[in-house]
Amino acid sequence: MKIARNLPDLHAALDELGPVGLVPTMGALHRGHLSLVAAARQAGQPVAASIFVNPLQFGPSEDLARYPRDEAGDLAQLEQAGCDLVWLPDVATMYPPEAASTITVGGPATLWEGMMRPGHFSGVATVVAKLFGQVRPRAAYFGEKDWQQVQVIRRFTTDFLLPVEIVPVPTVRETDGLALSSRNRFLTPAERQTAPALHAALTRAASAIGSGDAVATSLDVAKQELIAAGMAPDYLALVGAETLEPLERLTRPARLIAAARLGSVRLLDNVPVD
Ligand code: AMP
Repeated sequence: MKIARNLPDLHAALDELGPVGLVPTMGALHRGHLSLVAAARQAGQPVAASIFVNPLQFGPSEDLARYPRDEAGDLAQLEQAGCDLVWLPDVATMYPPEAASTITVGGPATLWEGMMRPGHFSGVATVVAKLFGQVRPRAAYFGEKDWQQVQVIRRFTTDFLLPVEIVPVPTVRETDGLALSSRNRFLTPAERQTAPALHAALTRAASAIGSGDAVATSLDVAKQELIAAGMAPDYLALVGAETLEPLERLTRPARLIAAARLGSVRLLDNVPVD
């Protein structure tokens, strides 16, 4: 597995490998990230993963300083997963002092996480656009765990006619339903017991709405379930799968999305509604 820490090394490695599938990450890797590598490999192309904790997507009061970092562990996991190249840029490479442009995102970026975390999706889009420019991947792989993020990336990739295929990959979960996340390590043992309640509430509400129950009532019931479990929901909504706009009735491809605070951790999850 090749490792590049600067642009000349990255481009030398890419010249040897040819067009790659790119898996952008912030490190602290788990089986969710590795499923993206597996999906990229399945397409029969060399795979590059990037590890960069992107300061631009963290708000001033967010957890940038405590974001987990484990480069040695990450590299070992990527090697074992069959990754061909790891791109490890530093902050000065991604954001040189003279850089003066960021990407403004509208549409699906303005709702939910976009309202809770002003500037977050602009930071995500900016770093992803830079990674696309650096790596020039054929395709890029993103987890459905961050459903809204995938739609935002799809939107700006389409809007700017970027020649990259965006491939969503299903969420990897613990056996009790909790979506894997680098931040789950901050749950206390008691909170870890409670955390699967988010996926359970979403699954129940999706099945109720899918079988014709009233949307508003089903969402209220799910929120009450979260509160009863000890979580503080930020939002729980039925939305258009691509636009993220709230739906009052199940009328088109839809997704149930939620964010809830549990202790010091914000849990995000989403499920389809059929
Ligand atoms: P992060 O390192 O948290 O920025 O995540 C990097 C990529 O891994 C993003 O595309 C995430 O959506 C994806 N990802 C994170 N957790 C999971 C999971 N449990 N299942 C599938 N993909 C995931």
